[in-house]
Amino acid sequence: MSEQLNETLHFAKNWQQQLAAVFSNIDDLCRYLHLSRNDLPVSMAAAKSFPLRVPLSFAACMQKGDPHDPLLRQVLPVKEELLAFPGFSNDPVGDLPSATLTGVLHKYHGRVLFINTGSCAINCRYCFRRSFPYADLQLSKQAENDGIRYIEENPDISEVILSGGDPLLLSDARFAKLLQQLSTIKHLKRIRIHSRLPIVLPARITDEFISALTESTKPIVLIVHCNHANEINPRVIAACQRLRRNGITLFNQSVLLQGVNDNVAALCELSEQLFSNGVIPYYLHLLDKATGTGHFDVSEAAAIALIKQVQAALPGYLVPKLVKEQAGAVSKLTVF
Ligand code: SF4
Repeated sequence: MSEQLNETLHFAKNWQQQLAAVFSNIDDLCRYLHLSRNDLPVSMAAAKSFPLRVPLSFAACMQKGDPHDPLLRQVLPVKEELLAFPGFSNDPVGDLPSATLTGVLHKYHGRVLFINTGSCAINCRYCFRRSFPYADLQLSKQAENDGIRYIEENPDISEVILSGGDPLLLSDARFAKLLQQLSTIKHLKRIRIHSRLPIVLPARITDEFISALTESTKPIVLIVHCNHANEINPRVIAACQRLRRNGITLFNQSVLLQGVNDNVAALCELSEQLFSNGVIPYYLHLLDKATGTGHFDVSEAAAIALIKQVQAALPGYLVPKLVKEQAGAVSKLTVF
């Protein structure tokens, strides 16, 4: 069967079936990309501690035959992950002390992070959660109810941020129920959702999911996560445009990553593509210094120099804020 026909059949499947068919084997991914393992600095030891996980919809955006593809670099387990870099640790943003049994992380005033699932559709090698025991926070229905009660009993909380893992991995039914429960809490002003799925698995944006969002009585803000313009394919565009047509506010956050988007042309093109498709470029994060991610680091000085050049090239509303997380800080810190 031809590769093209295989892909057509794959994309005809629903999102759960697409999720079940992600690449989890390096050789399969190499074969698909017409690359040999010898072309790449692959590390099986790195893959063992944090496995390869890539949806075909994301791999399909990679340039076949290019070992330096910026999307491949985001997901390929490589030898550099085994190097120790000074200042890198397993909990660089200080989430561990904030975790509670209910999956609620109450770090910032007025806002709570509500973690309902520790799973993701994709394993991003630069992720600060790669060493975090989020699987332990996989919520039972009882624990989720306890989390909702915590939010109900704290009138200072005006915003709930559904995060993870990826909250869009919840089933449509469970997601709808959760939004209904949160919508009944009077002091909540809005619900924010952080998800990489509209970018890496756009089939997730189902009719039922859109209904759950539009039936919420609270304004919904959806923050997607896209690091490079090549991630934005026609399926992603269709998903974003559908969300926008249904009144959902879309922002993007990306991470500044060496060898992926650490140049002015890549950052400008990302902002242009996002905006053309209804997504406001919002945050550009400096890397969280998690063990195994040092090779992605861009220094703060280099990042400021880059964003100044982006600012000179684009209108202000297309320039994301350069920010960083700092353990113990009362909010994200704006760098530029
Ligand atoms: S989708 Fe987000 S949380 Fe999941 S691995 Fe990627 S960066 Fe981390």
